[in-house]
Amino acid sequence: MNNGHARRLWALDSPTLTVQSETLLYGTSGEITIPVPSFLIEHPKGLVLFDTGLHPDAIEDPEKVYGADLAANLRIGGTADQRLDRQLQAIGYKASDITHVVSSHGHFDHTGGLFLFPEAKHYFGDGELRYANWPDPIQKFVYREEVLDVIRRLDVREVSGDFDVFGDGAVTILATPGHTPGEVSLIVHLKSRTFILTGDAIHLRAAMEQEYHFPIDADTTGALRSLRRLKYLKESLDATVWISHDPDDWAEFAHAPGFYE
Ligand SMILES: [Zn+2]
Repeated sequence: MNNGHARRLWALDSPTLTVQSETLLYGTSGEITIPVPSFLIEHPKGLVLFDTGLHPDAIEDPEKVYGADLAANLRIGGTADQRLDRQLQAIGYKASDITHVVSSHGHFDHTGGLFLFPEAKHYFGDGELRYANWPDPIQKFVYREEVLDVIRRLDVREVSGDFDVFGDGAVTILATPGHTPGEVSLIVHLKSRTFILTGDAIHLRAAMEQEYHFPIDADTTGALRSLRRLKYLKESLDATVWISHDPDDWAEFAHAPGFYE
């Protein structure tokens, strides 16, 4: 069985980060303000959340959550209504309604809300959690102890290869390692269209077009392989690629309360 469909896909609004663009793409300069969204997928058998963004409290008190140095570098912008818990409430869901949480990887800007979902089944890509506990020096600052402590208390599965969440082809976790060892993307088949949510397997549209890896990827060659895999899948599935941090994707596509079905 592989012709299933998810009913709806919402992109949930988030605070933003403002960073030097060269930290995302070599050869660029100036500042870039990027979204840090989560995606909610309604399927007949469950509610799936893809990524949980920054810690919700970081909007109002970034220094308390991330410390003065990291907070100063991130320059978090946003309002309290962009907290993940409130974004869910605004479309009629409680955190306890979420049955499955897929984290694209363990970096703090994709896992900050994990603690809101202690009852859900949690999914990571193969090798992510070992690496999170012993990352390369350049990635140390993006794996935070308080996040690892939360993950240790959750019902976690590390899936190897691709994984069909409901067994009907509607929602598939796609192994796209490179940015981190366990980086995953998500294919969502809706009635009207197919989305590929890339997490950080790709950071910007320009990187996909130019086939440029991210400056601090754990494995550059692997990251480029995954990037090409996503590009080719986009063609073969006639899918829309939604790059989490890309401001142009965020501007172009609908957000909650709007949705795709
Ligand atoms: Zn990342």
